[in-house]
Amino acid sequence: MSECDGPDCEKALENLYLFIDQEIDTASCAEIQTHIDECTPCLSEFELERVVKSLVSRSCSEVAPEVLRQKVLVSIRTVQVHITETKNQ
Ligand SMILES: [Zn+2]
Repeated sequence: MSECDGPDCEKALENLYLFIDQEIDTASCAEIQTHIDECTPCLSEFELERVVKSLVSRSCSEVAPEVLRQKVLVSIRTVQVHITETKNQ
């Protein structure tokens, strides 16, 4: 469950961009949604791409600068650490 190397992960990540852009059929969409609900590594990847994408579209720039990606990644990890700590209390 914590590993992200199964065929489901591969498929989910392959379709991630389409999923974010909502350019995917409903069946595949539900499959990916189910997967990222259960798979933390894929959820992180999804959140990262989604946040970066929304920030990029807001700033009207074509490509997300690497520094922005890193900032978003750090904040997502911070949230996850917080969630983990809360669960363990
Ligand atoms: Zn996965």
